[in-house]
Amino acid sequence: MEKCPYVIGNWKMHKTAREAVDCIETLASLIAGCHVNLFLATSFTSLAQAVQASKGTQIIIGAQNMHEAREGAFTGEISSLMLKEAGASFVMLGHSERRALFGETDQMVKQKVARALQDDLIPVLCIGETLAERESGKTEKVLKRQLESALGSLPAEDALKVLLAYEPIWAIGTGSAANPQQAQEVHSYVRSLLGHLFSARKAREIPLLYGGSVHPENAHHLIAEGDVDGLLVGGSSLDPQALAAIVRRCAQSTSITREKKS
Ligand code: PEP
Repeated sequence: MEKCPYVIGNWKMHKTAREAVDCIETLASLIAGCHVNLFLATSFTSLAQAVQASKGTQIIIGAQNMHEAREGAFTGEISSLMLKEAGASFVMLGHSERRALFGETDQMVKQKVARALQDDLIPVLCIGETLAERESGKTEKVLKRQLESALGSLPAEDALKVLLAYEPIWAIGTGSAANPQQAQEVHSYVRSLLGHLFSARKAREIPLLYGGSVHPENAHHLIAEGDVDGLLVGGSSLDPQALAAIVRRCAQSTSITREKKS
């Protein structure tokens, strides 16, 4: 993977396989040459065709969830091995919609992260607090619990394979993103937690993404923050023009930062 910003599009329960392929073809031409790792989390039924359509492009395809067991009597579920065979490279785990609407616990998320690592899928671990938790000063406590539960017992070399997304629940799908300072404050706290779990050097190598109401107009402000290594995009990722604009802003913002540093 190139050492450059990450943008992950979470398509949720949108786009049939045919729509996914059309979108990938459009996106690939819009973002050609941008130094950004673009991940797309498609529906399960789109995976194989999306992987095919992304061949020869810089787009990486993955899934939005999986079961923690490799196989078994779990009607309606999907396993890591099935995702791998369909060509997925990564899997999102612990998204707040999974936690809130489908009863996923910290324990389940921890098992899913371990399973994904065992079966060579990049886990994209999502953590985040509700508005009530933020307003009652519990943000750090909630994130610490979620993070330590999912990653605390991993060896450092496995933790380095994880992408971590901070997604405040109050910002998801609401149109009101965290402001860049709020995102930076939390990311810097999360980085310090990772430093305690592993080491400060390793913590710097784990990509931290921000997600929640990212759109082309706020993407460059968010990505400009020192501890924001990428963006996880829901609603705006459904429109290839909007997603390509976000990718381009991430690419521009990091080249400006590189120029300033040199
Ligand atoms: C998400 O659900 O992961 C997300 C970031 O959604 P949105 O961008 O629509 O807030």
